[in-house]
Amino acid sequence: MEFDFIQRHFAQIGKSVEVNVGIGDDCALLQSPSTLAVSTDTLVCGTHFLENDDPYLLGWKALAVNLSDLAAVGAKPLWFLLALSIPELNAEWHEKIHLFAKGLNECANTYKIALVGGDTTRGAWSMTLTVLGESQNALLRSGAKEEDDIWLSNEPGWAAVGLDLKMNPHSPAHCLPSHLKERAQNALNRPIPQVNLGLTLRGIAHSAIDVSDGIGGDLAHIANQSQLSAHLFLQNFPQTLKKALPQHPQYVLEKMLLGGEDYHLLFSAPPTQRAHIEALAKQFNASFYRVGVFKKRAEEAIFLWDEEGKRLNPSFPLKGFEHF
Ligand code: ADP
Ligand code: MG
Repeated sequence: MEFDFIQRHFAQIGKSVEVNVGIGDDCALLQSPSTLAVSTDTLVCGTHFLENDDPYLLGWKALAVNLSDLAAVGAKPLWFLLALSIPELNAEWHEKIHLFAKGLNECANTYKIALVGGDTTRGAWSMTLTVLGESQNALLRSGAKEEDDIWLSNEPGWAAVGLDLKMNPHSPAHCLPSHLKERAQNALNRPIPQVNLGLTLRGIAHSAIDVSDGIGGDLAHIANQSQLSAHLFLQNFPQTLKKALPQHPQYVLEKMLLGGEDYHLLFSAPPTQRAHIEALAKQFNASFYRVGVFKKRAEEAIFLWDEEGKRLNPSFPLKGFEHF
């Protein structure tokens, strides 16, 4: 691709982080401080975003969802690569990419990560980002222990409600008051990767995952990889959505348990850490929710219990978003 194009839009993104050789040569040269955490995610037009989505927000989100993977293992962001494919290089696309790069840059500067290289090709609009971070005492999906509490770092389901507002004109989401609609739209468009929380949870939590495909699926990953069963108690879930949509309890349950793209952390920690974790929530100016506990492995990965202590069999399978 035009060298000019790359220089113009991508040469300066997240510059503050140390890079020996960055954009402009055949390879980037980087001094690795320790074990590296590496992850990659692709966003495709028509699958993950729409042609007319705000390119600035898309730039933010493309990096934020990748940073969320670093957050989930408790890694410190260092560098990222961007493989971009765009249909053409006319004035309209220059403007789009200019705004996209602006969103990318804002996210990169917020989380102190530098763009060190990539590739640019002609094709249907899509982007693949690869992030690298410094990893020590990584938080893994396989680390949960029996009797660990199950914590959420935020209210689940809001991004999924935001997606409904955007895509489904008949969704109960349209009954929400405007400030809650705004909250849902923000959750969808401007996810906040929990980088600092992930770093802080090292040595406190036993396991963690970022909620990208819905609690049902993501919690099942921890349960399966730790060979335990997760027990979730509905009365411990946040009540905001439920109170705002009293006529639609099933809808609320579905969004909270299966809604994807929240990019908050779900983590497990021993009960001895409860006070510590509550104090952390205050420090992060957030509410954490202790929604369940891990027990010995039984026939299911996840058991759901209602307010009366009765086991619930929701009318939908407790699976997360399936990519195919
Ligand atoms: P090559 O022919 O070696 O693949 P390119 O012309 O694709 O070189 O890229 C030139 C330089 O620009 C390389 O350093 C590459 O990492 C960087 N680069 C290309 N596309 C992007 C992009 N979308 N974002 C960041 N850096 C890019
Ligand atoms: Mg190339």
